[in-house]
Amino acid sequence: MKKLVVISGKGGTGKTTITSSLAYLSKGKRIADCDVEAPNLNLLLNNKIIDEKLYVGGSIAKVDESLCIDCGKCREYCRFDAISEEILIDPLKCEGCGTCKYVCPKDAIKMEDEETGYIYTSEIERGNFVYAKLNIGADAAGKVVTEIRKEIENYSNENDLIIIDGAPGVGCVVIASITNCDMAVIVTEPTQSGLSDFKRIFSLVKQFNIKPYVVINKYDINIDMTREIKRYCKEEGIKNIKKVPFDSMVNKSLKENKTIVEYPDTKACKSIKDIWIDINKKMGGNYNENSNS
Ligand code: SF4
Ligand code: SF4
Repeated sequence: MKKLVVISGKGGTGKTTITSSLAYLSKGKRIADCDVEAPNLNLLLNNKIIDEKLYVGGSIAKVDESLCIDCGKCREYCRFDAISEEILIDPLKCEGCGTCKYVCPKDAIKMEDEETGYIYTSEIERGNFVYAKLNIGADAAGKVVTEIRKEIENYSNENDLIIIDGAPGVGCVVIASITNCDMAVIVTEPTQSGLSDFKRIFSLVKQFNIKPYVVINKYDINIDMTREIKRYCKEEGIKNIKKVPFDSMVNKSLKENKTIVEYPDTKACKSIKDIWIDINKKMGGNYNENSNS
């Protein structure tokens, strides 16, 4: 079983466009949306939910008023300012550290499971797709990503390629997305901030010893910056660098809840198909949906 993760240094670089297209072009689709703070692949993959699991991400303090003597010790020790003068816990501030429970002289505080959201397993054409929806205000953590990945692996066999949509940035959610992946497709854009974000995410990929594959999206909106990104890649010894041109049809396809590769005559479709053929070859497998794609 091989794993391909698609990431970007920040949101808005076209990561979902690339991931959804690769997912569309792969056969035996095993897709995981690990961009848990902004999951949106489900809008493009025409999925049917077949299973949902409650995800408990942590715990939250609860005060038993009948035992509380208003000594204020819990409030004094809470580092997160989550306890009011009236000894009420603010669920949005409570980090579930358990200090208040530990210091309470009357054993009036209990830690309760916090329902963080749901993990959904769904069917898509010739495959499965797993994603999560977290409750409003819930902290996205690497743990939920690990659960999503476990779930899609349960539906996969050793010949499958799992495609993971990773979260943007370089936090723990991203680390959980890229861990143990064979290749990381890093989507970037030709701007100064795009290059800085790319450098940060690339250094993470390097630390985890994952093969990088760089896609410069909308490369033609700033050819000079595209050259600069390519120059940096060369210095870093990155051999896999591909470009996708700006294409106004990408927005149109997203509005119609379709992947850009469902519009075969578009410039972006042609580039992404070439990228997919190349990735498929480099992953050493035969993961093409159609032999002529
Ligand atoms: S569990 Fe930790 S963060 Fe939550 S109220 Fe108690 S001390 Fe504060
Ligand atoms: S430490 Fe325990 S007894 Fe004291 S105020 Fe907090 S909950 Fe009440």
